[in-house]
Amino acid sequence: MRRFINLVLFFAAVSGHTLPACKPPSVRLNDGNMMPHFGFGTWLGFDENEVPVPVTDNSMGKGVEMAIDAGYRHIDTASIYNDEDQVGEALSKKIAEGVVKREDLFITTKLWNDAHARDAVLPALRESLRRLNLTYVDLYLIHYPIATKTVAFKPYVDIDYVESWRGMVDAKQLGLARSIGVCNFNVTQLQRLRASSDAEPAVLQIETNLNQQQPELREYCHNHNIAVIGYTPFGSLFPGRAKPDAPPPRVDDPQLAAIAGKYNKTVPQVVLRYLLELGVTPIPKSVHSSRISENLDIFDFQLDEFDRRQLRSYHNNYRTIPVTFFRDSPYYPFELP
Ligand code: NAP
Repeated sequence: MRRFINLVLFFAAVSGHTLPACKPPSVRLNDGNMMPHFGFGTWLGFDENEVPVPVTDNSMGKGVEMAIDAGYRHIDTASIYNDEDQVGEALSKKIAEGVVKREDLFITTKLWNDAHARDAVLPALRESLRRLNLTYVDLYLIHYPIATKTVAFKPYVDIDYVESWRGMVDAKQLGLARSIGVCNFNVTQLQRLRASSDAEPAVLQIETNLNQQQPELREYCHNHNIAVIGYTPFGSLFPGRAKPDAPPPRVDDPQLAAIAGKYNKTVPQVVLRYLLELGVTPIPKSVHSSRISENLDIFDFQLDEFDRRQLRSYHNNYRTIPVTFFRDSPYYPFELP
């Protein structure tokens, strides 16, 4: 069946035709659970000084409602985003309206750095569940391998992420999280985590976009059956969000525009499709209904090898979110620029 679909997509792509939009497929995680291969992000982002944009209205709750109406079933939030309550309200509303059932949804949230002690994990998850108005999440992720004393970015406390992982395993065993995983770990940290426990991380969530294609981590995860979720999938594509020194391409890049034109798609759609074809699950965020629908409409075409090669050439290891304020932590996971 899979071969047939690929064949149809291939002929559609070479003939320049598109197929009717279809819903995202799911991927089977290494613990047997299914995860939709496309999701919706709910973080408002950093301002130009790397300070989180404050949550002042219900825009992300409205975004989640629009996303569910458009067909998204995988929603990504985190306790540090300060919007779990509005995400939860939107989920409850859509379930009450009969648009979706709880079991149709795949909801992720994340453990913040101030709750890394093993016995702090369950209370933090229970607080997230209360805000989300859920009895379980589908995926619980350690947000960073870094532990801090308070919710602020400093001071650090010396808690090994191996200890936090034991709390994550407790959460899975209690059924409060169906699957567990990590974000922002490097290969060495993943190896160490996996050696410390019989419980494999089901997912690694990492920045993945044209400038940061994560070849090493993707290969490691592929070899060890860990699914990769790609955050900040647009990277520095949009001028309003790109730092002044961020490398190209931007959304008006002529080569990107030519690829998009060839498939009768937009540049953001081509970028998301490319990530999907790399085996990554992208989780783009938007608060605009038209963009929410546009981003999801990528399941009726397939890029050819020529275009994939061009898109691959933009990789230069640049990070949109280097979190350099954590650079003096012994657990800082990234190469310093
Ligand atoms: P992103 O999804 O790559 O980009 C979001 C930006 O792109 C917003 O400014 C949005 O503006 C704009 N946008 C979206 N679709 C567009 C379109 N079709 N055309 C033009 N502009 C468009 O960045 P992100 O929010 O950083 O990453 C996605 C999600 O990943 C987050 O929301 C969060 O859930 C997760 N994340 C996780 C981590 C982690 O450490 N685990 C870190 C960062 C992010 P509008 O909203 O105004 O449309």
